[in-house]
Amino acid sequence: MKRRYSRALITGINGQDGAWLAAQLLGEGIEVFGTHRPASPAGNWRLQELGFASHPNLHHRALDLGNVAACRGLLSDVDAQAIFHLAGQSRVADSFRDPLGSIHANGIGTLNLLEAMRRQSPDAHFVLASSAEIFGNAEHAPQDEQTPIRASTPYGVSKLLAHSAMGSWRQSFGLAASSAILFNHESELRDDAFVTRKISQGVARILLGKEQELTLGNLDARRDFGYAPEYMSALANMADRDSGDDYVLASGHAASIREFASAAFDAIGMPIDWQGHGAAEVARERSSGKIRVRVDTKLLRPVDAPLLVGNATKAREQLGFKPQLDLTELTRRMVEADLGRERKA
Ligand code: NAP
Repeated sequence: MKRRYSRALITGINGQDGAWLAAQLLGEGIEVFGTHRPASPAGNWRLQELGFASHPNLHHRALDLGNVAACRGLLSDVDAQAIFHLAGQSRVADSFRDPLGSIHANGIGTLNLLEAMRRQSPDAHFVLASSAEIFGNAEHAPQDEQTPIRASTPYGVSKLLAHSAMGSWRQSFGLAASSAILFNHESELRDDAFVTRKISQGVARILLGKEQELTLGNLDARRDFGYAPEYMSALANMADRDSGDDYVLASGHAASIREFASAAFDAIGMPIDWQGHGAAEVARERSSGKIRVRVDTKLLRPVDAPLLVGNATKAREQLGFKPQLDLTELTRRMVEADLGRERKA
């Protein structure tokens, strides 16, 4: 597939999504410039695992998103036709500890990059990694592009600022700027601070006898879990369009953390059964009766969006977005990857 752009900038290339997107674009022959914060390394284990760390078309740049002059300097240096803005504080839990840090990184950082693009690269296509958390405690499910925005977490507010600013810059200055309203998407490259990776890593360690139990927070939280590479293909297609728009990217299926954990234990052939309620709920290994999962109330969030599940009809029709991986295959891939890493460790 021939794209309209041959040079792309990816902020946050070291993250889960940045690495998958870089791998896809490099595989298509696109020159990729990836940013990391000045204190972070250029490139990391994710690009290495994907086999793209030393690709000749991959270039690293340090960027402080809090500095608009640095953003302009970078855009002038790179001259990208597609700008994928993925960098940011990505964990809802962290945003309760440092709300202003989240607003600054995700909100002001996006504004600085948009301003730099307006001045420096007005003809590029800007794609923002927004989040389903902008819907907060939505009254109706599934959510789509028309769902009222009412963020409830500090992270949601920071993404709301970025998302709204992008819509404003699109209208006010005629920029081609798209917002990917991303529902949860996981993969083998997920950071281990997220519950899904905590589960896949913990299950792998239990199978290898390195740990006995997993400790989780809200087992009832229901999320729409997708597979990151499928979502990044849709972002790549967004930047191919003449004008910007908002797109929900979601699988359309919700699963609870309890169901995610059950699927991960199934993936290693160790089915579990749940017993009890609330903080006393546990999961026991069916064959031995050993407790494999416990609840720790310290891991509960002050606010937890109860049901975020998306309707991605628009993305399916306009971007060819086709999420195909189901929960069974997703958890199997994540657990397999962690088993490989744990065996090597
Ligand atoms: P990730 O793995 O945490 O990667 C984000 C990258 O951003 C990090 O690798 C880090 O790279 C950089 N970063 C971290 N904190 C930062 C800060 N305070 N300021 C600037 N840069 C920072 O996240 P991801 O899963 O790839 O997500 C990519 C984007 O999609 C994020 O904006 C996230 O909020 C959004 N999103 C993701 C999901 C999901 O389910 N994955 C859902 C909704 C929205 P360096 O250390 O190299 O700088």
